[in-house]
Amino acid sequence: MGHPWIFSGALARVDGGIEDGTIASVADSAGNHLGYGYYNSRSGIAVRMLSLGERKIDKDFLRERITRAAAQRAGDPGLSRCNSYRLFYSESDGLPGFIADRYGEYIVIQSLTLGIERLKNDLVEILIDMFKPAGMYERSDHPGRALEGMEEFTGDLSGATPDEVEVEERGARFIACIKSGQKTGFFLDQRENRSLVKSYSSGRDVLNLFSYTGGFTVAALQGGAASVISVDSSRDSLDCLTRNVKLNSCTGNSEIVEDNVFDFVRSRDINSSFIIIDPPALVKKRGDVNRGSRAYKDVNMNVFRKCPPGSYVLTCSCSRYIDIGLFQKILFSAMLDSGRRGSIVGRQFQSTDHPVSLFHPESEYLKSMLLFVE
Ligand code: SAH
Repeated sequence: MGHPWIFSGALARVDGGIEDGTIASVADSAGNHLGYGYYNSRSGIAVRMLSLGERKIDKDFLRERITRAAAQRAGDPGLSRCNSYRLFYSESDGLPGFIADRYGEYIVIQSLTLGIERLKNDLVEILIDMFKPAGMYERSDHPGRALEGMEEFTGDLSGATPDEVEVEERGARFIACIKSGQKTGFFLDQRENRSLVKSYSSGRDVLNLFSYTGGFTVAALQGGAASVISVDSSRDSLDCLTRNVKLNSCTGNSEIVEDNVFDFVRSRDINSSFIIIDPPALVKKRGDVNRGSRAYKDVNMNVFRKCPPGSYVLTCSCSRYIDIGLFQKILFSAMLDSGRRGSIVGRQFQSTDHPVSLFHPESEYLKSMLLFVE
């Protein structure tokens, strides 16, 4: 009860004339109205609920949802020294398929379902009215749109958004590449792990695997790391990382390596005693769980095998099909095969601006464990 998804197989009947992407009344088997949701016959999730009961979906309803989400962020002490955060997170904030990220004076949105696409103009107007952003940009270049029968889309929605916006976070500064970067430009969801990295780095040599633009590199250097080696296969990301290190006038030695991390950990020695492993989602669909699990195991096992005794390893998975239990099993199996022993000293999830609704546990995707390797 309360879960916003209705799978196509659970629908006994769809009355004629309901167009894909439009809002429909959902009734139980006795014909009693339950609430309103938007319908898409092309999606496995045929209906995503917007309201329960009699509340109609109009512009006031949308405004209430955004106001509520904004109030939650405004009251969040973890965001007090941050100019960038996820302002609205889809099902967790009550509008499935809609994401809005705030980057300083700019807002970047994603519209991931046909139902939300139909409400988009209203949502954009509400956001402009409430936040008066200098620019609003859409990054709906998401493969999920195809499942909804939509093309990908990127472009300005209002004003002009520059390609690069500066993120300020708890005393650090980062360049977010709004138009060309991963996700909407920056991994806002890793905020708590950046703070964790900062507090565990003092005096250590750090190895940041899958570094992207160096969120963890800057955190480690700010935390007093003696050195950081950052490895990524993307030259552009590493160039941006170098700029981020400069932007924060970090001391400590920063080295970049353009390489495939899987090859790197297989072929190189590891002398660093704090290793961060934050791969892209290695499992993108349920059918990839076995193959993806092997990839997670492979990279973690090589790190465990090679790291010096007394190392910390912060290891992450952002694949939603790998839950925390499976992730722990993968890490156990990697530790066993590495011949080392280790323990979990911390567990973290996506940051607080990416809440997980108890009514929609699928909103949880980012899991991480801080391990101590003996
Ligand atoms: N840790 C980063 C986010 C990582 S995103 C942060 O907190 O900001 C994943 C990164 O992995 C991307 O930058 C991508 O370029 C890189 N990547 C993907 N596959 C890779 C591979 N096989 N080897 C090295 N880097 C890879």
